[in-house]
Amino acid sequence: MKKIIILLIFFLLIGCSENGLDEKNNMVLHEDDQTLSKEDDVKVQIENLMAEKIHAISMKDLNLYMEQIYPLDHYYYNEQKRWFSEMTSKNLSDLKFEILEFSLEDENTAIVQIRESYQDAEEMIIEFPLKFILVDSLWYDAGYPFLEKKTDRYTLKYMPDETRVYAFLDVINTAYDNLADIFEEKPDPAFEIKLFTDQELLRQRSVPSIGWLFTGWGEANESLKIYTGHESINGYRGTLQHELIHHITMNICNNNLPGWLADGIALHYGNYDLEGGNPLTLGYSTKEDLRWSIEALGHDEMWDASSQEETLNWYNASAMYVAFIVDVYGHETLMEMFYEAGKKPYHENIMNASFKDLNNKTFDEVVESVLKIDTEALTNLYYEWLEKQ
Ligand SMILES: [Zn+2]
Repeated sequence: MKKIIILLIFFLLIGCSENGLDEKNNMVLHEDDQTLSKEDDVKVQIENLMAEKIHAISMKDLNLYMEQIYPLDHYYYNEQKRWFSEMTSKNLSDLKFEILEFSLEDENTAIVQIRESYQDAEEMIIEFPLKFILVDSLWYDAGYPFLEKKTDRYTLKYMPDETRVYAFLDVINTAYDNLADIFEEKPDPAFEIKLFTDQELLRQRSVPSIGWLFTGWGEANESLKIYTGHESINGYRGTLQHELIHHITMNICNNNLPGWLADGIALHYGNYDLEGGNPLTLGYSTKEDLRWSIEALGHDEMWDASSQEETLNWYNASAMYVAFIVDVYGHETLMEMFYEAGKKPYHENIMNASFKDLNNKTFDEVVESVLKIDTEALTNLYYEWLEKQ
C-alpha cells in the first residue's frame, strides 16, 4: 500500500516446482571436477547458492532463503524478505536462474549476469546482474550492483545507464528540505534511494505480484525504489516527496496505522502540498467522490478495486481526511496520532494476514485516545466538514 503513485495512479510470480531440487543436484555435480580454477570454483559456489534459493522458494523456507542474502545490507535484506514472500505466495512454476556471464572483480566480489525465468499466466524472462560478496568463506547475494553517490542525508543508488543522476539528487534534496519544515522526525541517515532505468526490472526485483508497471515503491523497512524513465523530471517532485513522507511517517508509527492514512498524509504533505490545494480545490474529485467512511477506507482492498476511478477516489478521500484532521485538530494533533500508534512495537507486514485488521484497530484506539471520540463520530464530523468546503 505504499506504492508510489503519481497522482493519476499509473500505475508475476512463481511457482515453485520441484525442479529446484533437480537443478541443485545438477549444479552440485560440478564440484567433483578436479580441474576447477579459482574462478570456476567461485562460479560453482554461486550456482549452488542460486539453486539453494530456488530450493528455499519451493520449500517455502524463509530462513534458508535469507541465509543466501548478504546480511550487512539492511535494506536489501529486508527487500529480499518481501521478494521471497511474493515468490512463494502465488502459483508460479519453473523458476530458474541461469548464469550467463561471470566475473570475479576481486577475491571477495563477483558480478554475475543472471537470466531469471518463471511461468506465471505468461512466461517471464528477465536478465540482470547481481553482485556476490564473500564473508568468512561464504558467498552471499548482495543485490544489483548499483553505482552510488553518498550525501550527508542519504545514499543514492543508480544503474550505469542512468543519465539524470544530478537532476534526481536535486529533486530528492528539495523534498528533504521541504519536509524538514513539516516533520520533526528525520529520515534514516542511512536511507537509500534506488533509481531504476528499467521499469520491469524494478517490478521483478521488488514486488513482482503487482499487475502493472509502477513508478516507485517504498515500504517501512525498505529503500525507496523509483523508475526514472518518465520524461518530465518535475513530475517526480510529488512522487519523491510522497515516498519520503511514507518513510518518515511509517517510522514514527512503527508501521501500525492503516494504508489509507499512510497514503493520505503522503498525498496531503507531498503531491497536493506541492500543487497548492486538495483534491476538491484542484478539481480532481467531487464531494461525492470524497464521501467515504473511515471503515470503508480501512476495508477496501485497493489491489482489487473494480476501476481506476475507485482507486483514485480512495486515494483522494484519504488525502481529504488528512486535510480535515489538519484543519480541525491541527498538524500537531495529527502527528500525536502517529506517535501514539508508534508506542506499539514495529508491525511487520510481510506474511502477516492480520496486518490490515490490526492497523485498523490501532487507528480506532488512537482516535479515541488522542481525539477523544470514536471512529464513527470522526467520519460524521468529516462529512459535515466536507459539505462546508
Ligand atoms: Zn503512497
